[in-house]
Order: sequence, then C-alpha cells, then structure tokens
Amino acid sequence: MQGLGELDSLYRDIILDHYRSPRNSSPLEDPDVEVEAANPFCGDEVKVQLKAADSVIESVSVAGRGCSISQSSGSLMSELVKGKTPDEARAIRGLFQGLMKGQALSEAQLLELGDLEALQGVRTYPVRIKCALLAWSALDDALKQLAKRS
Ligand code: ZN
Repeated sequence: MQGLGELDSLYRDIILDHYRSPRNSSPLEDPDVEVEAANPFCGDEVKVQLKAADSVIESVSVAGRGCSISQSSGSLMSELVKGKTPDEARAIRGLFQGLMKGQALSEAQLLELGDLEALQGVRTYPVRIKCALLAWSALDDALKQLAKRS
C-alpha cells in the first residue's frame, strides 16, 4: 500500500485495522447534517453524518472509499468525536492538524488523539496529508452546518 511501507509497524497495524473494519460506517437514519468531501489528488471520498442532542455529538457516521490513510483517519475520527461537544471536536481537529503540520504536541495532547497518533508518520509525505485531513475537513463543515441549525 503506497505510503504505508515506511510507517512504524504498530502504527501500520492500527491504520490497516481501521481501513479494513471502519468504525461507525453505517449510515444514520435521520442525520441532522451530512457533508461529502473528496480529495481529487488521491481519489478519496468521504461522507460524514452527524446527529446532535443536548449540544453533544450523539451519533456519527463516516463512510467513504479511497486510500487506507483517508479511510482510517475517518474511522478514528468517528470514535474520537462521538459523545463530544462541537467545540471539543474542533479542538481535537486542531490538535490533529497541528500534528500533521509537524508541531510538537505534549503528552496530554497526544493522549487526546489516542490511536490517531498512528497517522503521524504520514506528515513526512506531504501529498498524503490531504488524505489524512479529508474526513476532518468534512467534519468541520458538518459542525458549521450544525451550528446554523440550532
Ligand atoms: Zn488518499
């Protein structure tokens, strides 16, 4: 799989596990918002659906097709943002963007990202950073739409 060969094997296992068995990929029956995004450079597609209740992201669905990095990032994202407030979800996105841009994160910040840390090796492949951030960009749009609704 292109781009994965150089990654640490533990990280590669996490990425491939999420790629082969994406979490929260079943479509929601009654989403509040739905956003699709595509990365033409790689052919990745992702659809993010959110349902909110009591200002918390109650349900999330992330489905799509494309490379292992784009799809595993979406799967990991779905696990991280479920049960979070929109502000908390945006904060996690900010941390992940920082990680991808090569910022040094503290131990506490890395803990917040959990297994998403597995994607940090991607930052040495600038072309793949778009793959890693695709689902998160869709999430950001979805959160903006959600804010307009309430
Ligand atoms: Zn890709």
